[in-house]
Amino acid sequence: MNALGLLRLTSGHRRGLALAATATLVASGLGLLQPQLLRTAVDSAAAVPWPVIAAMAALFVVQACVDGLGLFLLERTGERVVLGVRRRLVARLLRLRMAEFDAHRVGDLMSRVSVDTTVLREVVSTASVQLVTGTLTGAGTVVLMLLVDPVLFAWVMTTVVVAAVVVYSLVGRLRTAGEQMQRGVGEMTAELERALGALRTVRACRAEEREEALIGQRAEQACAAGVRAARITSVMSPAVELALRGSLLVVLLVGGTRVARDAASVGDLMAFLLYATYLIIPFTSVLQGIGLLQKGMGALGRVAEVQELPVENPSGTTPARQGEIALEFRDVWFRYRDRPVLRGVSFTVHPRSHVALVGLSGAGKSTTFALVERFYEPDSGAVLANGTNIAEFALDRWRSRIALVDQDCPVLSGTLRDNLRYAVSGASDGDLREVLELANLGDLVRRLPDGLDTPLGERGRALSGGERQRVALARALLTRPDLLLLDEPTAHLDPVNERALHRAIRRATRECALLVIAHRLSTIREADQIVVLQAGEVVARGTHDELLAINDFYGSLVAGEFMQNANPFDTETSPGWR
Ligand code: ATP
Repeated sequence: MNALGLLRLTSGHRRGLALAATATLVASGLGLLQPQLLRTAVDSAAAVPWPVIAAMAALFVVQACVDGLGLFLLERTGERVVLGVRRRLVARLLRLRMAEFDAHRVGDLMSRVSVDTTVLREVVSTASVQLVTGTLTGAGTVVLMLLVDPVLFAWVMTTVVVAAVVVYSLVGRLRTAGEQMQRGVGEMTAELERALGALRTVRACRAEEREEALIGQRAEQACAAGVRAARITSVMSPAVELALRGSLLVVLLVGGTRVARDAASVGDLMAFLLYATYLIIPFTSVLQGIGLLQKGMGALGRVAEVQELPVENPSGTTPARQGEIALEFRDVWFRYRDRPVLRGVSFTVHPRSHVALVGLSGAGKSTTFALVERFYEPDSGAVLANGTNIAEFALDRWRSRIALVDQDCPVLSGTLRDNLRYAVSGASDGDLREVLELANLGDLVRRLPDGLDTPLGERGRALSGGERQRVALARALLTRPDLLLLDEPTAHLDPVNERALHRAIRRATRECALLVIAHRLSTIREADQIVVLQAGEVVARGTHDELLAINDFYGSLVAGEFMQNANPFDTETSPGWR
């Protein structure tokens, strides 16, 4: 990220920045007029020069007003720039390719939106304007000083050059420290997010102290980088201050001598002295601007990184019309980075049919769902819907035709109504009640204090695991999908609710195809076809009875392995059910 990147960020806000810079410049210009008036008043006054004094007072008031206006415009533009950047970052993060979330930590990405953009605000607004106005005002002051007394000016410049050399030699290190500080804050946020996201596990494992130490360590790294930056700034600032005070002393010493020798007037000396003090402001502005810019470059780089991460490709030219779906996996191969997961998977889900995927944990069942949802793309082979590669459909339209009930059934914080209407914002209360009854949640709603308007807590904490699962199912059913993807739908259910849920699924899927990851015999028995996955390969296909007869692996799965998740109260799924 360089000055060009910084410039790009300000696009759309340049008028605001220009206005702010102009106001600041006008205020500085008005300030530069004051010593001239003072000089006239001192050198020419026999009596009290009231008109000049009145003009000076007016100048002070106008300058203060314009200066305040400039500052406000600057801050406002800074906030707006950050708003734009945050909006772009959020939009990008929500659309990043899934693989990017495998490669980045969510907390770190979040810190780029919150912390780094705050640093950026300083850089974009304050630093850029400070640099421009500081340089211009400084240049104006220098010219006027040259005009008033070139000899004195030469003396002053010597001290300023010394300070400039010190500053120049330190800015690089300040930039590195700034980068390290931002990275430290990002890592700390990532660790904190990880720990708070699994707080129950943290507590159950009594890991509070370990987490506290780890997160504290990250905070210390950020602090150490901050202290390094402070050390550099603390060398820079006194060097500059020394140079400025030194130059004032030089002005008094050399200027006083020149006045005594009649080489300059008292008015000249006073005007020059005022200019020398005025120079402090633009000089400090430029210095602060450079410091901020260097510190902010780290943040800018981190923000720019997110803006360059690849997002999902929403395009696709083939219209994905509602209607029956025949889904086909045709020789699909897929790997997560360097980990092969699916090897030549082929199977078909006919319209309105019910297909169960079974296999040991890690066989690749959820990955097939991820490919249907187009979270990832196959390395070779294709997933087809009614004969068309699903990659050719517009992503949004394709996803609107399928519904996914995930393994961990995410429920968002918000009310039950918000959760149900998440995919169908216009659904009526009648529609909601219908899917709630379908998902066997009618009783729950009647029990909840505010019915549909009851808040479900962070990640649906106010619900039991089984209730969360049924809320996720009801949400999926509300979309009236053409294809329903269900991941272990009965994992949390007691036998009564399990049977009710099966009835619900049967009713709901009369009009859509169903692909289900099954761990329960009851789920498997419902299926028209069972696809057995073993280490990413389809090793058998058929009905339950056919597979029992021909496939030993399926037999062994059913006999024990994948039934480990079976409902202990369900006699059907206990050993010996065959
Ligand atoms: P389970 O029944 O336990 O949910 P599964 O059959 O659904 O298992 P998948 O979740 O598809 O299995 O995972 C298949 C393999 O891919 C596993 O070895 C898993 O560790 C790996 N895997 C899954 N997701 C990722 C990911 N995002 N990055 C890297 N590897 C992954």
